[in-house]
Amino acid sequence: MIKSILNAIKNLFSKPATINYPLVKAPKNGEARGLILFEEPKCIWCLRCEEVCPPGAILFTQDRSSFNYTYHYNPYLCIYCGECVRVCPDKAQALSQSIEFAPPCIDINMNDTWFELEKEAVVSKEECKELKKSKKEEILNA
Ligand code: SF4
Ligand code: SF4
Repeated sequence: MIKSILNAIKNLFSKPATINYPLVKAPKNGEARGLILFEEPKCIWCLRCEEVCPPGAILFTQDRSSFNYTYHYNPYLCIYCGECVRVCPDKAQALSQSIEFAPPCIDINMNDTWFELEKEAVVSKEECKELKKSKKEEILNA
């Protein structure tokens, strides 16, 4: 009992074990899995990383004219699990994981913007699929 009281008093005056992330930058740890790095020239656009990402921190939107994909990454949703790096095909190796964590977030609306992008990622891909289909039909019927 006395030991618990002493511990409680000690804890009152000791530094908290937690930090106010993402407002404060997280400390580095040599073994930590951190931010995801993307090398666009290596990407083969298989979209596997988007499919496996548990919190949806990777998104691809698609251009309705060129059908090209654009990669988007949200470091504040990322849980640093490394699944995206694991599934990225060996022949591409377009993703890697640094030991850096996300810098403090200055945009408090960042996740709202991200959820809009999430909708666009779904809609743009569906529309591109339909556009490709109708273009193919046009060619076949010409
Ligand atoms: S490390 Fe995990 S959470 Fe972060 S982008 Fe990759 S799959 Fe998603
Ligand atoms: S898994 Fe790798 S190659 Fe496939 S889309 Fe993602 S980054 Fe590109």
